[in-house]
Amino acid sequence: MFAKQRPGSLEVICGPMFSGKSEELIRRVKRALIARQKVQVFKPAIDDRYHATAVASHSQQKLDAVPVRDSSDIRAHLAPDTEVVAFDEAQFMDEGTVALCDELADRGVRVIVAGLDQDYTSAPFGIMPVLLAKAEFVSKLQAICVVCGALASRTNRLVHKGGQVLVGAAEAYDARCRHCHEKPGAGEAGLFGDAQEG
Ligand code: ADP
Ligand code: ZN
Repeated sequence: MFAKQRPGSLEVICGPMFSGKSEELIRRVKRALIARQKVQVFKPAIDDRYHATAVASHSQQKLDAVPVRDSSDIRAHLAPDTEVVAFDEAQFMDEGTVALCDELADRGVRVIVAGLDQDYTSAPFGIMPVLLAKAEFVSKLQAICVVCGALASRTNRLVHKGGQVLVGAAEAYDARCRHCHEKPGAGEAGLFGDAQEG
């Protein structure tokens, strides 16, 4: 509990949609700002749900963020004296983001990443499983299942079209527990193109 802490680590906040990942990311960043640390916040440009240049939660909290296309874009924006780097929707980031997170943490930067650990088929989403394996600190959040009220670990897609990525909020997805989560039907692709069964 009180062991010495050296600066530089990777924190991952994961869980389904509506579990409070963005809220938690915003909370951590706000506290770092209160501590007068130099913070840079990014978000993948693919996610334009609410505001092009903000991390936004479903509960209307917001934080200014620089939209980026990929990890090289983040590199180009990084200030040399940055102490905290945070980004949301990490499941949409490219593979180079893993090495970047490692490099930053090795250099003494506190890296805070939030993202969906599972896609709507409940398969591991993008680079998230690798980031989870590499992280010193993992917070796995749960939402509330809209069907039964239990804790919800999964994101359920309400519209039956599109591939793994279909950006949207309440109209396209809801949160479900394991038991109420709907398995995708035949022809709906999972992470590696294979629909999950049964
Ligand atoms: P995430 O980033 O994980 O999608 P947000 O931080 O954007 O989550 O939003 C979390 C907020 O969503 C909650 O504080 C709550 O106000 C709202 N919310 C809406 N539906 C649900 C649900 N089914 N379970 C929990 N919270 C929900
Ligand atoms: Zn349920």
